[in-house]
Amino acid sequence: MTETTADSAKPVQSTAKPGLGINPPAARVVLVGAGPGDPGLLTVAGLDALRQADVLFYDALANPVLLDEAPAHCEKINVGKRARKHLVQQDDTNQMMVDHARRVGMGGLVVRLKGGDPYLFGRGAEEAAFCAKHGVPVTVIPGVTAGIAAPAAAGIPVTHRKIASTVTIITGHEDPTKGETSVDYLGLARLIERGGTACFYMGVGRLQSICDELASHGLARSTPAALVQWGTLPRQRHVTGTLDNIRHRVEDAGLSSPAIIVVGEVAAINEPGLDYFTNRPLFGRRIVVTRTRQQSSSLKDELERLGAEVLEAPTIRIAEPDEAEARRLAEAVSSIGNYDWVVLTSANAVDAFADKLAEVGRDSRALAAVRFACIGGATADRLRDRLAVDADFIPSRAVSDAFIAEFLDAHPLAGARLLLPAADIAGPAIADRLREQGADLDTVTAYRTLPVESLPDAVTQRLAAGEIDWVTFTSSSTASNLIALLGDGADALGRCKRASIGPKTSQTLAAAGLPPTVEADPHDLAGLVAAVVASER
Ligand code: SAH
Repeated sequence: MTETTADSAKPVQSTAKPGLGINPPAARVVLVGAGPGDPGLLTVAGLDALRQADVLFYDALANPVLLDEAPAHCEKINVGKRARKHLVQQDDTNQMMVDHARRVGMGGLVVRLKGGDPYLFGRGAEEAAFCAKHGVPVTVIPGVTAGIAAPAAAGIPVTHRKIASTVTIITGHEDPTKGETSVDYLGLARLIERGGTACFYMGVGRLQSICDELASHGLARSTPAALVQWGTLPRQRHVTGTLDNIRHRVEDAGLSSPAIIVVGEVAAINEPGLDYFTNRPLFGRRIVVTRTRQQSSSLKDELERLGAEVLEAPTIRIAEPDEAEARRLAEAVSSIGNYDWVVLTSANAVDAFADKLAEVGRDSRALAAVRFACIGGATADRLRDRLAVDADFIPSRAVSDAFIAEFLDAHPLAGARLLLPAADIAGPAIADRLREQGADLDTVTAYRTLPVESLPDAVTQRLAAGEIDWVTFTSSSTASNLIALLGDGADALGRCKRASIGPKTSQTLAAAGLPPTVEADPHDLAGLVAAVVASER
């Protein structure tokens, strides 16, 4: 993966032949609407384009999570206005898009990812026209725009059969009170008066001027208004009021940009069901999740689905095995056709196995006669992603007991040759039982799990600032690792609510003077989430 910011990006040599007036065929450029923030609100076509991008231009408004969708070879270029605190001029962005499209050449794809919809206050039309003018083929994939999605997520439908039949999308960037605006405030005030909705983009700094200007054109100061910051994201916040008081309410609540200002009757609507987004049980809660291998992403996904903002605090990292073990794995993988089964206990084991296979110059064809047992759906998914192989056996539950019982039940192992590439800290339980059943088993350390040296800044800073509501602990070792990593800062954990997965983890926490607020029952991830939700009721 390469990552560059605009000011560090090397100028691209155009391959155009001077004097001839023609350029070799360029890659296609596609302007993709990234949606309002929630990565799930990117369109299917947009995701498709991202996954094929050779070059990706992005800025601060697009959710950074989306960048991970680009393929590994894709060059990612930050053209945000504040990339490295340096103002990237629009002209530079336009030129860079054309230069990169020419460099990549025909058949390639340059994606310009733009917040919301590319044509709504995003200079998308200028970028498209510039490409076209320079002979670069360009297309646009529309996006879900913030002016509609952010109010919706705050419980405000921008039109409503009984209340609002028009919606006007307006830039709030221009100062209406200084005569600088091209917006017809008189016309707008009339539309709103008759039950229309106005959605202002980029207007937070001019909120008072906007309200005053509408009022001076006859709109009642009691007209409902709302402001929604970071709409559709877990950190979304909003306030409602009237033209008269909305600015004070926004100030009191400490809201700022990016935000949409909604003016009109719909801003005061209060019907059951419309608050689907903010009504989720963990909405507005900030939760730190300690990571143990694959566990955290499912925990993170579930907490986010319930509305929480989740920060991951990995306490372990995956490292290569030592040389001798790496050689053993290479040998096993080189003669993989000799094995009847490969047992994979984690997505990390799949990665190590697949990497090694490639390293010894082989691919999926070498696996034709080998069967695969995977513990956990996530492990099987990774096997499919990496090697296009479907697992032959997956136990009903992703734990070693279930695996042993069900696997042994379904497959006679006497004399069978098995390979078990696993973590250095994997216990002997699985290997012992397979051998007891007569399996000819080779175990190899495929990767090591090492403690990380430090936590992400966002986690330590927010903990220190008292901005974290919950910390979840999914094992005793992650609890002690996190406490050790925080050092003196571990006091901050005392100010958060703490959710423990089970008695062993709770004991570790209690011994550190941080008894858990809740303990999961049953002692699994679903139990952990349920305990947090129950405590928030
Ligand atoms: N093309 C974008 C808008 C770009 S202008 C779109 O279609 O949504 C940038 C402005 O969009 C911000 O100043 C803010 O007013 C609005 N905006 C973008 N994302 C937002 C979000 N998640 N919540 C609220 N407003 C947002």
